[in-house]
Amino acid sequence: MGPMAEQSGFQDARYAQAVTAEIKRLSQNRHVRIVHVCGTHEDTISSNGIRSLLPESIELVAGPGCPVCVCAAEDVDMAIELARQGHTVTTFGDMIRVPSTDSSLAKEKSEGADVRVVYGANEAVKIAGENPNREVIFVAAGFETTAPTIALEVLRKPPENFSVLTSLKVIPPAMELLMNIEGFAVDGFITPGHVSVVTGTEVFQPLATKYGVPCVAGGFEPLDVLESIRMILLQIEEGRAESENEYRRVVRPGGNPVAQKALSDAFDLRDAPWRGLGIIQDSGYFLKEKFSDFDTRRKYDFSPIDSIDILPGCLCHKVILGMIDPVDCPLFGKRCTPADPYGPCMVGHEGTCRIRHENLVL
Ligand code: SF4
Repeated sequence: MGPMAEQSGFQDARYAQAVTAEIKRLSQNRHVRIVHVCGTHEDTISSNGIRSLLPESIELVAGPGCPVCVCAAEDVDMAIELARQGHTVTTFGDMIRVPSTDSSLAKEKSEGADVRVVYGANEAVKIAGENPNREVIFVAAGFETTAPTIALEVLRKPPENFSVLTSLKVIPPAMELLMNIEGFAVDGFITPGHVSVVTGTEVFQPLATKYGVPCVAGGFEPLDVLESIRMILLQIEEGRAESENEYRRVVRPGGNPVAQKALSDAFDLRDAPWRGLGIIQDSGYFLKEKFSDFDTRRKYDFSPIDSIDILPGCLCHKVILGMIDPVDCPLFGKRCTPADPYGPCMVGHEGTCRIRHENLVL
C-alpha cells in the first residue's frame, strides 16, 4: 500500500472508501483499461469483488500471470515422456494436473508412473540423494519469484541423478507482447509484487517509458489493489508513465541482489514458448551450458512430437491474453471444471478460469 494506506492499516474501511472515491474522481468516466499479470492479483480481485467497487469505465483485466497456464505443452509433453520412460518426475502440485497434448502427469501417475508432488526443488534434490539408482527430474514452472530457489539448488551441486526441466519465465517480455497486439489497449499495468521483490520495480521502467504506460507494483491485500489502481490513474492524470512501487513494505529499491545473482549465475535468458502465445524473445530462464549435466533437455533424448498447446474448443489463449472472460468459453463449467480441467487455466489457484469458477460457484 502507499504511504496513506500504510498509516491507515489494511482493514480500514474508511480508507478503502476514500481510495475508491479518489479512483472515481480520477477516472473522470473515461475508459481506462488496467491489466495485471499475476494470478494472485486475480484471486484478490475476484474473491473480494474489487471490480464491483470500480466505476464502470475502468476495466480490470487479467493477463498472462499464471505460471501453470503459460507452461507450454511441449514442456509438459517432455515430462510425460520421461515419466513413461520410467524416470522419477517431480513437480509442484498444480503442474501434475495440467492437460497436455494427449495426457497429463496426473494421468501418467494413475497409470503407474513415478510422478511425485514436491513443495520445491530442494525436495526433489533430496529424493535424488535418497535414490541414487533413479533418475530424478524436477519440472520447474514459475516466474522470477520461483526461479531463484531452483538456481540455488543447481549452484549447490546436486546429485548427478538430478536434473531440471525448466519452464521458467520472465514477465516483462510478456507485457511487451501485450503492448504490441493490434487492438489490445493497455492504459496501465499492475505489476506483480512478488516478482518485484526479486527484480525491483526498475525492470518495468523501460516498458513504461517505451510505451508511455504507467506501471505500479502492487501487493495482494484488496487495499493494495485499489491503491495501485489509484496510483495508475494519478499517473495518467499527470501525464506520467513510470514504474512505481505500491508494495513498499516488501519491495525494496533494486529488488533482492542475492536472488538476482543466483539467477544470473545459473541461467541464460533465451526465447521461450508460452502456451497459446507462441515464442517470446528472451522470456525464459534456461540453465547455462556449464550446468548441462543438470539440464534435462540436454541429458535425455526426446522423440519429436507435435505438441498441442490449445486443445480443440479451449479458449485459454484468449483468456491468458485477457481478450475474453472465462465464462465466454463454451466449455466453462461444463466440459471444463476445476475437478476435471480441460484447459490449463482451470487447473491451479492462479488460473483465471479456476478463480472465476470458484467465485461464481461459491
Ligand atoms: Fe480453457 Fe477451460 Fe478456460 Fe475454456 S474454461 S478457456 S477450456 S480452461
